[in-house]
Amino acid sequence: MSKIFAVANQKGGVGKTTTCVNLSASLVANKRRVLLIDLDPQGNATMGSGVDKSELQLSSYDVLASLLPPRKAIVPTSSGYDLMPANIDLSAAEVELLEMDGRESRLRLALEQIGDDYDYIIIDCPPSLNMLTVNALCAAGGVLIPMQCEYYALEGLSSLIDTITQVQQAANPNLKIEGILRTMYDPRNSLTGDVSEQLNEYFGDRLYRTCIPRNVRLAEAPSFGKPALEYDRSSKGAIAYLALAGEITRRHAAANQNSNTNSGSRPVAEAV
Ligand code: ATP
Ligand code: MG
Repeated sequence: MSKIFAVANQKGGVGKTTTCVNLSASLVANKRRVLLIDLDPQGNATMGSGVDKSELQLSSYDVLASLLPPRKAIVPTSSGYDLMPANIDLSAAEVELLEMDGRESRLRLALEQIGDDYDYIIIDCPPSLNMLTVNALCAAGGVLIPMQCEYYALEGLSSLIDTITQVQQAANPNLKIEGILRTMYDPRNSLTGDVSEQLNEYFGDRLYRTCIPRNVRLAEAPSFGKPALEYDRSSKGAIAYLALAGEITRRHAAANQNSNTNSGSRPVAEAV
């Protein structure tokens, strides 16, 4: 089965989309088949993957709102992963979904049709704990939480964890925290060290060892519609996301080898 990750944090600008695009490209570089789902009406993952959000024929909106078979909305990208794109149309789905039966499971049902087409399905969530994010959490096996190591970063984390726990109890008991990712990491900043230590205490092995540094290439690449790996493969940002993909695939390989002990993940309640 595909491993499905929701990349979520309701705090804006923490590096969700940057992580989605660059992790997708890096997993492809590790010979994995990857689908990136843009579930944010901002359409940043779509643009960052070199697909023009203003020219979409079909998008994740059609999949969620009209139950369009997902393969019809999926397009290839030049970076080797597939993309289910999004644009501002998706903001209508936020409202329309509220009236629908099984409103939180629409994405999960859609992804069941894709079965084993992909090794990894990565979902870019909007900066909000709305029905789109809930759809991602219901469809996913794991949540990847990008965080900046700054003072207010931990503040929002508890409401995200609460939402994850609610989704676990109501709809998706298998949902796990896949990992916490430190983004825009600056080791020279002393606060970074303090927050990092707190994260380590709370999350232990759920905190990725890989940190993503603040790197201008990561910020520049989206304006060329490319992951950093394509834009400047020797940049520190591209190398860090390759390391993250390696850490993730190694972790899963180890968990598969030892599947009886289910060592790859712990329930959210135990992880916090
Ligand atoms: P939103 O909540 O609006 O969806 P987001 O969490 O998806 O935001 P990004 O769009 O990935 O965050 O990043 C926010 C901004 O920071 C972007 O301009 C991006 O290019 C930049 N950025 C992200 N990660 C890094 C990094 N490691 N180094 C430098 N700039 C970065
Ligand atoms: Mg984003």
